[in-house]
Amino acid sequence: MRFDIITIFPGLFDSVFTAGVVKKAVEKGILEIRIHDLRKYATDKHQQVDDRPYGGAEGMVLKPEPIFRAVEDIRQTGKSITCLLTPQGEMFNSRLAEELASYDQVVLICGRYEGVDERVIEHLVDREISIGDYVLTGGELAAAVVVDAVSRFVPGVVGKEESVRHDSFTTGLLDFPQYTRPREFRGYRVPAVLFSGDHKKIARWRLKKALEKTLARRPDLLESRKLTPEEEELLEEIKKERKES
Ligand code: SAM
Repeated sequence: MRFDIITIFPGLFDSVFTAGVVKKAVEKGILEIRIHDLRKYATDKHQQVDDRPYGGAEGMVLKPEPIFRAVEDIRQTGKSITCLLTPQGEMFNSRLAEELASYDQVVLICGRYEGVDERVIEHLVDREISIGDYVLTGGELAAAVVVDAVSRFVPGVVGKEESVRHDSFTTGLLDFPQYTRPREFRGYRVPAVLFSGDHKKIARWRLKKALEKTLARRPDLLESRKLTPEEEELLEEIKKERKES
């Protein structure tokens, strides 16, 4: 799978993908991440990529021609999608990350200043993506977030794919709590069930904890999820315990 990031600040990506599983996946050839300097697609001698907004307003806007030229040069045949990072886009989430991982190529356009000329949105971009209801100074950090989260769904990137399936949101629930050595730290003990060796019991405990956390922190996730009979039973148990405490 290949990511192509179009930016006016390519140097911002110098270190982002140089550690961890993403780096390893790039080394193994599972992922390819290319950073493209938008200025290289400007045709005038000053390599101008932005200009003042028509109608008069504060700030600058990224011009359409270099962005069209860049995308048309970079886009490959095959399953390719072009996305613009923008606070006005659809909210990025685990479902969208998994969907993007099914493409052979994801082209990510990073805006700056007041954003990009609207014709880029109307006639070039397939999808507009926001990483949250706040405004960043540029799309680069958002693009890095998208690459990182999408990569986890590309087969072979995360060592044990099983772990991705357990992650928060992938199951529609928040993840269960994790513990490691030591068994006891400053008097804080790891729950005894985790040493029982009873895998069924551990799985049920983990499911209950995941439900408990989701109910406490993200009840909206439970509303949109079809619960299994075991989950319904555990949820009832949790609600009863809550009332009693
Ligand atoms: N004037 C724009 C608006 O209000 O919608 C904001 C422009 S912002 C200062 C500059 C660039 O940062 C955007 O073009 C976009 O690429 C990126 N950006 C800012 N916030 C973002 C967010 N929440 N998600 C994704 N990209 C974002």
